[in-house]
Amino acid sequence: MDFASDNTAGASERILDAILAANGGPASAYGEDPFTAGARAILSETFEKELVSFLVATGTASNALALGALCPAFGAVFCHREAHVMEDECGAPEMFTAGAKLIGIPGGAGKIDPRDLAATLAAFPRGPVKQVQPAVLSLSQPTESGALYTCAEISELAAIAHDAGLQVHMDGARFANALVALHCKPAAMSWLAGVDVLSFGATKNGALACEAVIFFDAAKAASLPFQRKRSGHLLSKGRFLGAQMIAYLEDGHWLGLAKTANAQAARLEEGLRDAPGVRRVWPRQANELFVILPRETDAALKAAGAHYYEWSLRTLDPDVTPPAQNEIFVRLVTSFATLDEDIERFVAVARAKR
Ligand SMILES: *Cc1c(COP(=O)(O)O)cnc(C)c1O
Repeated sequence: MDFASDNTAGASERILDAILAANGGPASAYGEDPFTAGARAILSETFEKELVSFLVATGTASNALALGALCPAFGAVFCHREAHVMEDECGAPEMFTAGAKLIGIPGGAGKIDPRDLAATLAAFPRGPVKQVQPAVLSLSQPTESGALYTCAEISELAAIAHDAGLQVHMDGARFANALVALHCKPAAMSWLAGVDVLSFGATKNGALACEAVIFFDAAKAASLPFQRKRSGHLLSKGRFLGAQMIAYLEDGHWLGLAKTANAQAARLEEGLRDAPGVRRVWPRQANELFVILPRETDAALKAAGAHYYEWSLRTLDPDVTPPAQNEIFVRLVTSFATLDEDIERFVAVARAKR
């Protein structure tokens, strides 16, 4: 019963098969191979735009390289104060931008409110030499609290950012989960909504290790090949990244994987609905569920072998009654590989009389 994260799952068999199939014979190194070219083509087709893409092996590299391309060393990146780039990347964005400042904006369910963005940007005018210069808005879709921005909300935030001269980055480590939950097209949730650069995740949704940094405007990508190599993120056997991305996107495989992950989270949410003392913190939108559990239930679940993380109380919105002494706030994540029987067992333990 592993609900710790969607990267505790292995890789999809189709993707592993594609890696094996790419293994025969030589192929040019450093991304000059036909698999990487194929990945570029299928990404452009998927997003209905001629885009420039770079494959890397981790989401942190993807975010940090993207921000490094968009933000000067004296610049500022605005993001939610709980964003992965802010809290979970050990300063990689700061390192790859050669020292830019990350500025956290508070907001319910990990979302940035347009009024808060506008107010924050008003406090960072362009020009004064004593202040970092506003450069990028980075949005996480879904957010760290598992919430989604609608395409209209992304457009509104992007318009505010663009009007203030900023560029817009999206951290899409779980892009597929958000996309299938919103029933929209990749283009609508990205470049059509004003996203300039996207960190497009595949690892959490079934790849072995593959993410794409996607530029919807080729001119902005000029420095990326050099920064990727310089930072050690250009794989010599790049064909294996290309093969993963092709298998991920081909025949809608990625959408099927994300639908399964989201459906499993919905089942878990439904099963916990009438479990005694279990409080749902935010409505589930994709494949992450945040609940407050009685400590007794938590102990019983752990004794039964369940894995999940306690979540930071800082992320709780002011309107949520925080956990009492005898309660604990946790995050439950499902993946394409979550088994029905694991959900059933988890729910049965949570519902048991004790
Ligand atoms: C998992 C995740 C990443 C990428 O993390 P890596 O462990 O570096 O692959 C980036 N952003 C978000 C929101 C994530 O959840």
